[in-house]
Amino acid sequence: MNDPNKVACPRCGQDWLRIVRLNYLEQTAVLCQECDALWAGRPPRNDNFEDYETYMRRHFRANPANRDEYEVVGFYPASGS
Ligand SMILES: [Zn+2]
Repeated sequence: MNDPNKVACPRCGQDWLRIVRLNYLEQTAVLCQECDALWAGRPPRNDNFEDYETYMRRHFRANPANRDEYEVVGFYPASGS
């Protein structure tokens, strides 16, 4: 887990953070697909994440596990250079 263009999940350290598009919430967020830590509108740290499923249910998405709920836009942070 060493890549200068990617950020490892600050919660579990087991996967790279991804930028995801929450299709029905019309929102972009940062997600760890390994532990389902979600950061919406905040910088990813290990003390400010939310659980993906909890977040989605709070926003009235009844089936957060459905494949069309989000799509991966790319790695976090957005690739440049
Ligand atoms: Zn994680």
